[in-house]
Amino acid sequence: MDSNFHSHCIFCDGRSYPEDFVKFAVARGFRAYGFSSHAPLPFETSWNMTKGDMPEYLAEIERLRKKYAGKIELYAGLEIDYLDETYHANIPFFQTLPLDYRIGSLHFLPWQKPLAEVNMVCIDGAYDEFRKNVDAHYGGDVRLLVKDFFETSARMVEIGGFDIIGHIDKIYMNGSRYPGFDMHARWYKTSFLMLLDLIAEKELIVEVNTKNVKRKGQTYPHRDTYKHLFERNIPVMVNSDCHFPDLVNDGRNEAVALLHDVGYRTVRELVKRKWKDVPIG
Ligand SMILES: [Zn+2]
Ligand SMILES: [Zn+2]
Repeated sequence: MDSNFHSHCIFCDGRSYPEDFVKFAVARGFRAYGFSSHAPLPFETSWNMTKGDMPEYLAEIERLRKKYAGKIELYAGLEIDYLDETYHANIPFFQTLPLDYRIGSLHFLPWQKPLAEVNMVCIDGAYDEFRKNVDAHYGGDVRLLVKDFFETSARMVEIGGFDIIGHIDKIYMNGSRYPGFDMHARWYKTSFLMLLDLIAEKELIVEVNTKNVKRKGQTYPHRDTYKHLFERNIPVMVNSDCHFPDLVNDGRNEAVALLHDVGYRTVRELVKRKWKDVPIG
């Protein structure tokens, strides 16, 4: 049975109410569904929720959990940015919230202090902005950006405070359009595999993010890397990272089939609020 633990709704940049997503998930026969709004940052953006909205967010998920009990398991999570050693999933604010799980993700690489949106290189936005940022802040050397991205990811994993690492190599979405990028080159693979070794040591779950399967033919991590995850016994889960209710399981079947091809027979998911290995196909 299907599930999804990475999703957005109107509390951040998702395009509909939480209940609309639940209705689609129930209609598609989902076993479980988790909300993971973009967590508050120390500055406001157009896509993060605010600290002030947190009580209402948690209360609404609790209301839906009761209303849909017996039909679907619902979970409250957050997708939490690592910005630097002062702002990440392991700070008391996030650790004391009554959440079922936490996703640790990188969207921003700060290029100078203080922590403010103008001081961030966004790796997940439009390509034009990305290109200007690599030109301006990495001297046009995409290898330096890749190094910064995976080293920052490693610091996020070291500091911890989360269960699942989100879209672990999303750097290739925009990066692969920039001259000099090559995810099969030794310099790229070395950084990436060192991060995987650390993730295996910390026993984190890696999500296979299917948000761009239909639009760009991409999963994060890249399909060519699944064998490296399997070799390291890293547990995986398949998430749609949906922002629209009709996309709750977009790309899921494709990703499950690819994982099966490299040897995976289970995915790690919350079942009755405990992490379990659930059989696939
Ligand atoms: Zn994300
Ligand atoms: Zn997301």
